[in-house]
Amino acid sequence: MGKIIKIAGPVITAEGMRGTRMFDVVKVAKEELIGEIIQLKGDTATIQVYEDTTGLCPGEEVVSTGMPLSIELGPGLLRSIYDGIARPLPVLQEKSGDFITRGLVAPSLSREIDYDFKPKVKVGDLVQAGDVLGTVKETQVIEHKILVPPGISGKITKVEKGKYNIEKVIIEIQTDDKKKEKLKMYHRWPVREPRPIKEKLDPTIPLLTGQRVFDTLFPLAKGGAAAIPGPFGAGKTVSQQQLAKWCDASVIVYIGCGERGNEMTEVLDEFPELTDPKTGKPLMERTTLIANTSNMPVAAREASVYTGITIAEYYRDQGYDVALMADSTSRWAEAMREISARLEEMPGEEGYPAYLATRLAQFYERAGRVTNLNGTNGSVTAIGAVSPPGGDFSEPVTQNTLRITKVFWALDASLAYKRHFPSIHWLTSYSLYADKVKGFFDEVEKDFSSHRQRIMNMLQKESELNEIVQLVGPDALPEEDKLILDTTKSIREDFLQQNAFHEVDTYCDTEKQFLMMDCILAFHDSAHKRLESGKKVAKMVTVPVKERIARMKYAEDYKKEAEQIKKDIESQLKKV
Ligand code: ADP
Repeated sequence: MGKIIKIAGPVITAEGMRGTRMFDVVKVAKEELIGEIIQLKGDTATIQVYEDTTGLCPGEEVVSTGMPLSIELGPGLLRSIYDGIARPLPVLQEKSGDFITRGLVAPSLSREIDYDFKPKVKVGDLVQAGDVLGTVKETQVIEHKILVPPGISGKITKVEKGKYNIEKVIIEIQTDDKKKEKLKMYHRWPVREPRPIKEKLDPTIPLLTGQRVFDTLFPLAKGGAAAIPGPFGAGKTVSQQQLAKWCDASVIVYIGCGERGNEMTEVLDEFPELTDPKTGKPLMERTTLIANTSNMPVAAREASVYTGITIAEYYRDQGYDVALMADSTSRWAEAMREISARLEEMPGEEGYPAYLATRLAQFYERAGRVTNLNGTNGSVTAIGAVSPPGGDFSEPVTQNTLRITKVFWALDASLAYKRHFPSIHWLTSYSLYADKVKGFFDEVEKDFSSHRQRIMNMLQKESELNEIVQLVGPDALPEEDKLILDTTKSIREDFLQQNAFHEVDTYCDTEKQFLMMDCILAFHDSAHKRLESGKKVAKMVTVPVKERIARMKYAEDYKKEAEQIKKDIESQLKKV
């Protein structure tokens, strides 16, 4: 037990803390505020407190729990809304009203729900860490697998089948060193520690999103990491919701980290209303939300990020593909800067601590497609939003993030202003997974990658041509270049623009994406052939089939439509 000697915002110093370790969780003062030891000098500990420190006085007590910050992992995580240290917000609200009082304790997982435990093992079986002991139906859409926690192996001596709450001992194991382990449906895990895996796999499978600009131009791999900047009004919320709804991950973890309260309210209001297009059930049936807004204590931002990724890893261990979204990692970095300043550490670039890059890397490193301890495959895909002040990508958080993540989806305010949605800029965005996932797409359609490459090249060419047009006007261009400008207009408007609110256009499967490219390029090639015989671009682009290409995104029977379009291109251009 120690005593507070100094308080500076969220950071306090306590003496008499002999015997404690780095990152031990402590309880501060009589309100028992939760904090974490982040520096030790002799018996003096510096502690970051996850709750508001207003009113604390020197001399008040600090008690170490002797344990690192850890969370409960078990059925009940999905459908939940947590604060940064995994306390369920609805329970906190019930206990304290709209303004959450300090020092509240609320377990992450409800003890009031009974889950029907269906064992997959019997007495006498030998099991090891990661093995599936049984399943419970956690929500309408997710089967939760109860695993042997890391570090335990042995022989099963007791199995309890039936409906229990999570505190019931459902399995007993005689461990290899002759100890008796009583297992419940949940176990605790320290959030700063990555959960063990067997091996990391190459990220060769794309995380399909049904959004053309993501899948075709800048694909993200399952187990990959992406960064997305969020200038105000550029469509970040809509993009994230589209990803959450349509990406082919089974479980979604959304971390709202340090954004303004009203933006988080939007998420908290809207997410529970979203319907999962795959099941017709609420999307929350496979989602966990973590909310830590800008007015909540800054130190808890870090906790919220680690809590989120730990939950994601836990479902990955069960063999699921998990998509994690963190909005925004810049606010987390600002929290690091604030704490570091209070510790009087030597500041690095723009005042951020020297370990900024390492911390960000440690977070994104926990993404990956892996073989789990139990032999199944699962993945955690991390999508981190960054909010560079003034949209300046050269600042340290964006730069350090880009060094680690391999996909950059550059939301662009000027495109949003022109109502080009999703406002992902094709010239500034990139994906380093494109080569890795090429095989997958070419398996669906053998020309997928070559079409993609042609489209990318033409968009690049368009930007060069635009510069010339600005100097000499469009009429001075050779016919060939005029055709390129027409085709890229079609790529931008008919292909890249996708309306999230249109019943059909909201989702576009891989084959449709290919056929849409195929039709646009078929028109280009056919018109190009006719340039030799002196036909003019201005004339050719007036044929009626152009309109059908533009409307193909709304077509449900797109295969038939694509066939018809290709026939019409030939016959109509012939007549020009
Ligand atoms: P932000 O969160 O970046 O402030 P929003 O995601 O709320 O911005 O988007 C602002 C507006 O832009 C939305 O209300 C919507 O009208 C429009 N929008 C954004 N993305 C799309 C899209 N994919 N399709 C259609 N409209 C969109």
